[in-house]
Amino acid sequence: MKTALITGITGQDGAYLSRYLLEKDYKVIGITRNLQSGNSNGLNFLGIENDVQLVEANVFDLSNIIRLLEKYKPDEFYNLAAQSSVGLSFEQPIGTLEYNIISVANILEAIRIVDKKIKIYQSSSSEMYGNVAQNKLPIDEDFIIHPASPYAISKAAAHWTCVNYREAYNLFISSGILFNHESVLRRQNFVTKKIISSALKIKQNELDFLKVGNTSIKRDWGYAPEYVKVMWKMLNVSKPNDYIICTGEAHTLQEFIDKVFIKLGLDPQKFVKFDKALYRPVELEVIYGNPHKAKTELEWDYSLSFDDLLDKLIDDEIKYREWWMSRKSK
Ligand code: NAP
Repeated sequence: MKTALITGITGQDGAYLSRYLLEKDYKVIGITRNLQSGNSNGLNFLGIENDVQLVEANVFDLSNIIRLLEKYKPDEFYNLAAQSSVGLSFEQPIGTLEYNIISVANILEAIRIVDKKIKIYQSSSSEMYGNVAQNKLPIDEDFIIHPASPYAISKAAAHWTCVNYREAYNLFISSGILFNHESVLRRQNFVTKKIISSALKIKQNELDFLKVGNTSIKRDWGYAPEYVKVMWKMLNVSKPNDYIICTGEAHTLQEFIDKVFIKLGLDPQKFVKFDKALYRPVELEVIYGNPHKAKTELEWDYSLSFDDLLDKLIDDEIKYREWWMSRKSK
């Protein structure tokens, strides 16, 4: 039985990756900053809360990571923990840079010291590329990195720290450069979750309208439960490398909103209001990638259309609301 250590297990990807690794018969140990915070809703919703082992750890404390590695002797280390919101990173730039960069340096250093055979997956982000000229799209792995937010800067620094440790110390480190991937386990401060949960509330007469910022932005959106599968794949090929993970298609946020509302029988014109306060200081206008390298080298197979994605997100949100209500009434 292989052992995987996952930071950020209580987050969206952490929960889905855990479920996937459990299906593959892994022993899954998850790191959280605070065991008492009760933030294991995602694991609970997926029905795996009792199948993973949660441990509290401070990734700023090198000795703490070293102890964890010595105790659990993982075969694979998935580093998913991060302050992951671009919007919040403009409010908390120092905290975002500090956490997202230093945590990665500590983890790599600990693994280098304890056991260089541990394979490492790092979650990098498409945000690292910043505003790319439209005639240069789609983005591939060789694009120049030009981050446009504190979050993007932190992810770029973490990404290059991983490349450096791979080249300098021969560690097995692969980074997934993931484009936006969504699920019902997104936090409420992410726009896709906000749109779908608000639309359902409007339908149930629990909310009057949805407030949004700039809806002309275009993104390459995928389905998180599918994206986590490729994280495992990256550690289970012969050589480490970096891979762009995306669908290759971009859609505007307006299209996302319109389709969700129409699928739920609601008129978007009536229920959506614009709020300038929700605009960011710098916004990526259009971004989409080229998944060719992952599709060929990792045989990554992603076939959901944009409509399939929205249908899944709506269905999952309905199930989540039912689960949440039944939990509250217990
Ligand atoms: P998420 O839902 O926000 O979860 C991240 C987890 O990190 C949290 O559950 C939290 O767990 C932990 N964490 C540690 N330090 C934190 C901090 N300072 N602020 C907030 N949380 C912190 O993220 P995700 O969507 O699963 O994404 C996983 C990884 O992929 C992240 O590194 C993210 O940056 C990257 N990524 C995501 C996307 C996407 O579209 N989802 C795209 C590209 C890259 P505890 O509270 O239990 O410690």
